[in-house]
Amino acid sequence: MRILMIAPPGAGKGTQGAIIAAHFQIRHIATGDLLRAHVADQTALGLAVKRHLDVGELVPDQIVLEMVREALLEAKHAGGGYVLDGVPRTMAQARATYDIGSELGMTANVALYLKADDQELTRRLLARAAVEHRADDTEDVIARRLALYRELTHPIVEWYHQRGILVSVDAMRPVEEVGREILAALEVMRTLVDQVPEEARHAVDLTNIGSPFNQTRQP
Ligand code: ADP
Repeated sequence: MRILMIAPPGAGKGTQGAIIAAHFQIRHIATGDLLRAHVADQTALGLAVKRHLDVGELVPDQIVLEMVREALLEAKHAGGGYVLDGVPRTMAQARATYDIGSELGMTANVALYLKADDQELTRRLLARAAVEHRADDTEDVIARRLALYRELTHPIVEWYHQRGILVSVDAMRPVEEVGREILAALEVMRTLVDQVPEEARHAVDLTNIGSPFNQTRQP
C-alpha cells in the first residue's frame, strides 16, 4: 500500500499514520517528525528550518521534497509500501510528490483525508501543548497553522477526489474508532488497488457515517 494523508493539524495524522504503518508493515514517513529531529540534533538543516517551525510557517519546498525523495527511496528498498504524513501541503508539493513517485515507480494509490472542525482541532492542539511542549502548539501559532491548512492544503483534497484515490474519514471521534474505520477502508482499497485500474475507481466518503440524519458537517 502506498498512502498519503491530508489533514489539518490536530486531526491525528501522526497517530493514525503509525497505526496504518504497523497494520500494513510499511514505512511511516512523517515530515514534521523528521524536521523536528533535525532541529533537536541541531543539524545544518535543523538550524535552517527552526524559525519556520516555531512560527507555524511552511518550510521551503526544496528541503521537504529532498527529504521525501530520500525517505521514499528507503521505503522502496524496504518493500515499496509507505504512509506519507505531512506531505503534500500545497498544490505544488502535490505535483512534485507525484513526480518523485512516478520517477521511482511508487506513486500513492490512496489519499486519506481526515476531516475535523477548527474548534475540535484547536482543543486537541492546546491539550497536546500541555503535555508535549511543542514550540508550535501555542494559540497564535495554531491559528496560523490552521489558516495555512485551509488556504493551501485543503484545496488538494479535490485533486485526489478527481483522481479517484481519495478516502475521507470523520476524525472527530475517538482514536480507536477512527483507526478501525481507516483500516477497514484501506483493506477495501487494497483489493481495488490490486484489481481495478486507477482511472476506473471512485472516491470513498465515510465522513457522514456517524450522522445518518444528514447533519452536514463543516469541511
Ligand atoms: P501539524 O500537521 O500538526 O502542523 P506536522 O508535524 O506535520 O504538524 O508539521 C509541523 C511543521 O513542520 C509545520 O507547521 C511546518 O512548519 C513543517 N512541515 C512539515 N511538513 C511540511 C511540508 N510538507 N512543507 C512545508 N513545511 C512542512
